[in-house]
Amino acid sequence: MELKTPYKVKCLTCGTENILDMELECVGSYERNMGPELEYMAAFDGVCQGCGEDILAQIEVWEYPVGTVEDYITVTKGAEKTEEPTFISHYMA
Ligand SMILES: [Zn+2]
Repeated sequence: MELKTPYKVKCLTCGTENILDMELECVGSYERNMGPELEYMAAFDGVCQGCGEDILAQIEVWEYPVGTVEDYITVTKGAEKTEEPTFISHYMA
């Protein structure tokens, strides 16, 4: 699973839109009845390009069955997401 487009968040301090450099990494695999459920995580821990305030962002995605986004969660600190993340699976045709 990968992020289809770069994840964008807006700084809560100055309003600058930051495009975060995040990559999903597979952090877990669980055998289930329709094959593996894969868990991915991406994290950003840096500063706003506008004001230098700390920005934290985290995305967690579960792929199950393979090729399908089962669920995801996003967490941001110091910023808010401006759009939902979109994903692309390595297993999609
Ligand atoms: Zn800022």
